[in-house]
Amino acid sequence: MPKWQYTKGLHNIGGGLWAWLQPDGSWGWSNAGLVVDGDQTLLVDTLFDLKLTQDMLDAMRAAVPAAKHIPRVVNTHNNGDHVFGNQLVADSEIIASKACAEEMDQRTPEMTAELSRNHTKLGPGALFFYEMMGSKFKFEGIRHTPPSRTFEGRLDLKVGDKDVHLLEVGPAHTRGDVIAWVPKDKTVFTGDILFMNGHPVLWAGPVANWIKALDLMLSWDVETVVPGHGPITDKAGVQGMRDYFVYIHDEARKRFDAGLSAQDAAWDIRMDGWSHWLDGERIVVNVHSLYREFQGKSYVQRDEGEAMMLFGLMRKYKHERCGACGGVHEHKHE
Ligand SMILES: [Zn+2]
Repeated sequence: MPKWQYTKGLHNIGGGLWAWLQPDGSWGWSNAGLVVDGDQTLLVDTLFDLKLTQDMLDAMRAAVPAAKHIPRVVNTHNNGDHVFGNQLVADSEIIASKACAEEMDQRTPEMTAELSRNHTKLGPGALFFYEMMGSKFKFEGIRHTPPSRTFEGRLDLKVGDKDVHLLEVGPAHTRGDVIAWVPKDKTVFTGDILFMNGHPVLWAGPVANWIKALDLMLSWDVETVVPGHGPITDKAGVQGMRDYFVYIHDEARKRFDAGLSAQDAAWDIRMDGWSHWLDGERIVVNVHSLYREFQGKSYVQRDEGEAMMLFGLMRKYKHERCGACGGVHEHKHE
């Protein structure tokens, strides 16, 4: 039996640390965290919409009297499922990396609501966004609420007597990924540097940065790892993500060297070892990002058109490969 249950809601990690979990951890169903010491609190991430975030804050306040007032919030990275609830903690100091804050200005909740509203007119990418997220979360009425404090590299906070180290490890999943490490409690809140039992998304890259971040966590004296999505884990979960990246990097490289297109490579790579992970279609984004690296292009901001193209290809992959039965078992190219 796993040490931590994977059920929706608040989980007491001990030592004043809490995790808010949202099974099943697929697209948009993110986790958040709360660090408490004495009367001081720090929230790690908000959720994808206002109702989800309000429910979480209510539960935290019911369980932890000190959470009545949350003076500081950290956004681990710019994906809506970690920042769109910021409006409900707008009076708090909202902390993020500078790169995360820049990305937030480029993709606001208002734009996301518009995409969702117009999903029937904007092609297969918008349709996939709607199927996976737009139809499940409520973006209307969310106001862009950017961070009020940014940093680069590292920011050391005190929550009561507790040290919390915010470390910028991106660009990797996004441009400005941050992890929150609480050494005293041997715990790290990873944001989306870790997806547990789900495929990660290499939106930004380079993959070497992501692997470096995983190695950093593996080097620490850490027992509890709260991922951005999926169940609470330990270093075994971190190692599993590392193995995934090494595998897809090597497999994509072989196909790049053999002259396959990124799309053909994505379809061709056997993912049998990961068929129990959610969201297998993300291999499409990951292979495209790896190809960009192989072509010697360092990180470039993906424009909206390219992002939508990738969403469209993920829809195609999901429908062809993951299918109604949910398992990857067809190998078109064999
Ligand atoms: Zn996320």
